[in-house]
Amino acid sequence: MGSQGGKAPIHVFMVSFPGQGHVNPLIRLGKRLAAKGIFVTLSTAESHGFQMKKVNKNLSDEPTPYGSGTIRFKFIDDGWDYSKPEGNDLGLYIRHLESVGKQLLPQMIEEEEKQGRPVSCLINNAFIPWVSDIAETLGIPSAVLWVQSAASFSCYYHYMHQLATFPTESNPQLQLQLPGMPLLKHDEIPSFLHPSSPYTMLKKAILGQFEKLSNPFCILMDTFHELELDLVDQLSKICPIKTVGPLFMYPKLISPNGKDIRGDYFTSDSGIIQWLDSKSASSVVYISFGSIVMLKQEQIDELAYGLLNSGVNFLWVVKEPSVGTGYLPVKLPDGFLDKAGDRAKIVQWCPQEQVLAHPSLSCFLTHCGWNSTMEAISIGTPIIAFPQWGDQVLDAKYLVDVFKVGIQLCRGEDENRIIPREEVEKCVREATSGAKAAEMKENALKWKKVAEDAVADGGSSQQNLQAFIDDIVTKCT
Ligand code: UDP
Repeated sequence: MGSQGGKAPIHVFMVSFPGQGHVNPLIRLGKRLAAKGIFVTLSTAESHGFQMKKVNKNLSDEPTPYGSGTIRFKFIDDGWDYSKPEGNDLGLYIRHLESVGKQLLPQMIEEEEKQGRPVSCLINNAFIPWVSDIAETLGIPSAVLWVQSAASFSCYYHYMHQLATFPTESNPQLQLQLPGMPLLKHDEIPSFLHPSSPYTMLKKAILGQFEKLSNPFCILMDTFHELELDLVDQLSKICPIKTVGPLFMYPKLISPNGKDIRGDYFTSDSGIIQWLDSKSASSVVYISFGSIVMLKQEQIDELAYGLLNSGVNFLWVVKEPSVGTGYLPVKLPDGFLDKAGDRAKIVQWCPQEQVLAHPSLSCFLTHCGWNSTMEAISIGTPIIAFPQWGDQVLDAKYLVDVFKVGIQLCRGEDENRIIPREEVEKCVREATSGAKAAEMKENALKWKKVAEDAVADGGSSQQNLQAFIDDIVTKCT
């Protein structure tokens, strides 16, 4: 493994949209491919005020051995300034990145050829479908890493190809039945596909991927076959999909500079694991809404008092709004921290996989982003679902009704809803003690075992990943 006809290495060039939920699964895939002997380039854009490299100083432009392969990063300065008045317009940014990327990527690929390691395969994730056009033009095989669930993929696919009837302005309550999936109520369908959603630009960006689906020879998914069984079987008949997750679960190899390769955009607070160590087993609720979602101040207040009144310990990620989101910073209610005392640890960012796996953890109150969902299920952590938008509302439905590892604190996309503290308290109590909590934990532990088996030797994801690598090798020889 590692070379084409004994000359150049097999070179997988990955391009990621700069966002935490995009970069994390792509880096995890890159590490896996490198561990298997491939030369992997991970390329993403750095904007003024949003720089992964600043946080992760060990990410090197120099080829670095990883397993039996190699990893190196290529950061592109996209010239975008988030502090400008139009800086937080994501639609504008996506278009800007496309025009910069369409110029730079062919040059970068040409340079690789000159350096003696021609690109064998291009892989991109969401919001940058033009990467697969470039691959098509240059005659390079390409693949996509879909960073949401297979269920979410199916919804967008059916919407794009008009294969099912979705809610409309005149019939907003319409339910959706898709093959291999449970009946979805209108507020369980990815919210960008709902006529009332204001996020038309995000909808367009995601659907852009589906317009180009004939380009990639493979659509990799960060899920595992057993988790979305009937649906994956169903989708496999219409698209070249391969489930290869949970990607975060494959063994982590430490690179020669002594550190794991991570792509965090924010620096973790210190003392988190020590604080968790000081708590008794299954006594801590972890609360995080991922990298983008910001709750309103009123919702923060209600959440804070709900947690306080529930009597549990809690680790809560209350981060500054990301640059470019336009959200306002929030603060905890006056006197709250004094009342909570050592029961609470409030942080800006944490090593989430480590936190979820800590024995003191009881459950995870989450926005149900797909990465967080995948991490929680595979680690065996029960969920309190607090979805906000997009695929999160569908993930919450699956966590509660299909995977049966969660309870739902709110549903659907509604910027103005405020969940009162009494409901928060009731939900936290239900998820942490009593019959429901025990049932969710039992189911979560079952999924953990299935996830572990999927990535183990001979497991479904491991086999699919190997088949994908074999496909690349075949295409190069
Ligand atoms: N994450 C983390 N530390 C935190 C919060 C989140 O490492 O304090 C990671 C988390 O493990 C996940 C990613 O950030 O891999 C968030 O992705 P997700 O799809 O859940 O949500 P998004 O940020 O895309 O809304």
